[in-house]
Amino acid sequence: MRISVIGCGYLGAVHAASMAKLGHEVVAVDVDPVKIERLAAGDAPFFEPGLPEILAEAIASGRIRFTTDYAEVAGSRVHFLAVGTPQGPTGAADMTYIDSAIASLTPHVAAGEFVVGKSTVPVGTAARLAAGLQDAVPGATLVWNPEFLREGFAVQDTISPDRLVYGVPSGPAGSSAVEALDEVYATTLAEGTPRLVVNLPTAELVKVSANAFLATKISFINAMAEIAEVAGADVTALADAIGHDDRIGRKFLNAGLGFGGGCLPKDIRAFQARATELGVGESLDFLADVDAINLRRRAHVVTLASELLGGAVAGKRVAVLGLAFKPNSDDVRDSPALDIAARLLELGATVSAYDPEANHTAARIHPSLSYVDSASAALQDADLVLVLTEWNEFRTLDPAAVVAQVASPVVIDGRNCLDRDAWTAAGFTYRGMGR
Ligand code: NAD
Repeated sequence: MRISVIGCGYLGAVHAASMAKLGHEVVAVDVDPVKIERLAAGDAPFFEPGLPEILAEAIASGRIRFTTDYAEVAGSRVHFLAVGTPQGPTGAADMTYIDSAIASLTPHVAAGEFVVGKSTVPVGTAARLAAGLQDAVPGATLVWNPEFLREGFAVQDTISPDRLVYGVPSGPAGSSAVEALDEVYATTLAEGTPRLVVNLPTAELVKVSANAFLATKISFINAMAEIAEVAGADVTALADAIGHDDRIGRKFLNAGLGFGGGCLPKDIRAFQARATELGVGESLDFLADVDAINLRRRAHVVTLASELLGGAVAGKRVAVLGLAFKPNSDDVRDSPALDIAARLLELGATVSAYDPEANHTAARIHPSLSYVDSASAALQDADLVLVLTEWNEFRTLDPAAVVAQVASPVVIDGRNCLDRDAWTAAGFTYRGMGR
């Protein structure tokens, strides 16, 4: 099928290359000419495992084209909308990019074609956009097909998602949309992927409620970590024990620095803003606590660092291992790790920061941090080591070797990802989260 993908960020670039991998002919559009140039040359503009390979394969097959010219989408049967919906100044989602993309796209859409939203949007957006599209291009249909990919696993999650959700209008237009999307995802559906057909607002809500639930689960265990710390309990053992109950489950129950990235934080805030607009703000009051618990983790680590350094961090050498909001990504949007590194710098510490992939993205936001190109360089003569992103490279550090590099053997394991016993045995003062 001829498909267009509008917006080539973390979601759109992976989606476009994955659609080509599934055999479709793809035109991918972005307003950023540098990004388009890099993608066209087979150079992934961000770190995502597997993306360079499927991108190269798509380019070699001749099934993908990258452009800044919207006119090239003409003739695509399905137009995926994958532009950003960042947090606006009030906490609500900034819809500028969606509105501008729709305005640029609409003149090139014809009757019988489908505009398929993938971005995460406030409930009610699809109905609004559908009305506009209907007026401009009678016979074109707007549907919503939210995306659940996890950065670090984005290719796998796009090609083999755990479910597909189609938000469609009622009537024949809805049935045609289901047929078109079934054709797009034929390979995926043949693998037995569950597919749920719902109305437009349900599809929008599925996405934000999934993220609200995940954020709540993380903040729940971090709240338990706060209590475990003062009660002398171990939150990791607690999570193992409650996780055996399959109504609870062990996943997403790792206490640490909390969530960050380009989705969960802004999505829970936008969800609250939208609920308030709809007159049901109370229903999501609890998300304010979820957000507050999450942000407290960062302050807690800064306080702990200060305590471990004898009351003040000023003038001390601090090794920060990890800057990305999660491992296997170079995404530092709202990253707890980068936030903590920046706060320590502000308090006068000499911060030596290293991330296997995110030094360059972090440097764009915080150019004043000192970035080094190996864990070993960061650790040299450190008074305190902070592990803030659970990259495998850090999990597998040999504490016996690290102890010889640092000035003082003190470590904060912000992700509970180190072997506490091994680090303690090597002579480190070890502090985990909630342990
Ligand atoms: P991003 O910022 O990485 O990418 C957005 C892209 O859209 C950028 O390349 C930007 O240049 C482009 N763009 C902006 N305005 C445009 C326009 N008018 N026309 C064409 N392109 C335009 O953001 P992202 O992480 O890819 O997220 C995109 C959407 O997907 C958001 O709504 C996000 O919440 C949602 N989402 C993201 C993920 C994820 O893990 N990143 C997962 C699921 C859903």
